[in-house]
Amino acid sequence: MKKVLLFLLLLHPQLSNAFPVSPKSLEEEKMAIVQRYLENFYNMPKSGDKIKRQKNSTHLVKKLKEMQKFFGLEETGQTDEETMEVMQMPRCGVPDAIEYKLTEGNPKWKRNEITYSIIDYTQDMSQADVDSALEKAIQIWSGPSLLKFTRIYEGEADIKISFVRGDHGDNSPFDGPNGILAHAFQPGQGIGGDVHFDEDETWTKDSRDYNLFLVAAHEFGHSLGLSHSTDPGALMFPTYSFSEPSTYVLPQDDIDGIQFLYGVSNNSVKPTGPTTPGTCDPQLTFDAITTLRGEIIIFKDKYFWRKHNQLPKPELHKISLFWPSLPSGIQAAYEDDEKDLVILFKGNQYWALSGYEIRPGFPRHISNFGFPRTVQAIDAAVSYSNYGKTYFFVKNQYWRYDNLRRAMDPGYPKNIADKFQGLQSSVDAVFQKDHYFYFFIGPIYHKFDLHAKRIVAVGRSNWLLNCR
Ligand SMILES: [Zn+2]
Ligand SMILES: [Zn+2]
Repeated sequence: MKKVLLFLLLLHPQLSNAFPVSPKSLEEEKMAIVQRYLENFYNMPKSGDKIKRQKNSTHLVKKLKEMQKFFGLEETGQTDEETMEVMQMPRCGVPDAIEYKLTEGNPKWKRNEITYSIIDYTQDMSQADVDSALEKAIQIWSGPSLLKFTRIYEGEADIKISFVRGDHGDNSPFDGPNGILAHAFQPGQGIGGDVHFDEDETWTKDSRDYNLFLVAAHEFGHSLGLSHSTDPGALMFPTYSFSEPSTYVLPQDDIDGIQFLYGVSNNSVKPTGPTTPGTCDPQLTFDAITTLRGEIIIFKDKYFWRKHNQLPKPELHKISLFWPSLPSGIQAAYEDDEKDLVILFKGNQYWALSGYEIRPGFPRHISNFGFPRTVQAIDAAVSYSNYGKTYFFVKNQYWRYDNLRRAMDPGYPKNIADKFQGLQSSVDAVFQKDHYFYFFIGPIYHKFDLHAKRIVAVGRSNWLLNCR
């Protein structure tokens, strides 16, 4: 959430010279961001300078709610911090306003053999690297469908690719570094199918700045007739997040979309892709759970849910969207109330979060907690702040750590089943609320009463996500 403030401060370099800036002008900057975003991506009519008049208009509130719904945020109709955060994430320039996964009227190419050509190159990468990133990006769509792509060097291709900056003559100017990264046109004559990359971005073949393969694969989806998906795991989700290109597999949501338009490939093995976890899947299991300043954060693969009382339903996000440097598959997590930190574990490494910010100097090695070298991963962790103790669960044993002394208590590890009677196996995830530990083992949770020292309730793990 700090990013929002930082962004607003950057707009006001005079702040660093200690000149006061009236809150009113900060508010105006914020409203300008909101206005521009809703005009660009949610079909809000352009209003020019009439920002003030618009501020509380029912139309603006309606459009804000539309945007919040698309991103799975709480539909407040207000310019709250999380909404502002999402509005400042780098993204595709194609609007989200179309309510369906497929572009209205389903414009598509009439044949399955599609040509593409590279009109010009970015300065950021070698031509060979651009060629291979674009080739790989377009071919990702041919695997699951009947489409065939051929690069041509002469004549007019269906999909023409170029790197341009600023106003480049198609009524959709680019905006300098960050913000809008690229856009593409739906299938059709002339400019139809074409892809434009913002040359004011820095394009890469790795995780720095904007990976060309990932952005291109998304834009080619538009070139073929797909519009934005609300599935946060889909390639066609509008905001940019990094995934490792060398192991990238087209998600199932995108496979479904392309097959709807162009039919299923003739391959004997039907390609499938990763699916985003279904919130109310009765078999749902979790990787790690922690409290965070009154919220509950639930990790699963490359996703996490945020749950707090004000939200009617938990929000699902990609980990990489909020914490680009965190890996997927977080294995354990706990909140240290005293230090106001959340500690996340994967393998023998751990990270510290302050709110939603990763603290510098991480990851560090778990030997700092006093684990012997035989412990290479932690299944689950929870801090019982009333007593200043943190419990670590490793296979069928647990360790108790003293938060104040910063050392393991003597006499550990002990068997989980001895202290937490009724727990028969290793633990996936655990968190504390009041005098209860909530243990998650596969698709079942166990509510353990720390006073009565026994399990007092058992149910489906997805209960935590408000499922019945
Ligand atoms: Zn897009
Ligand atoms: Zn353009």
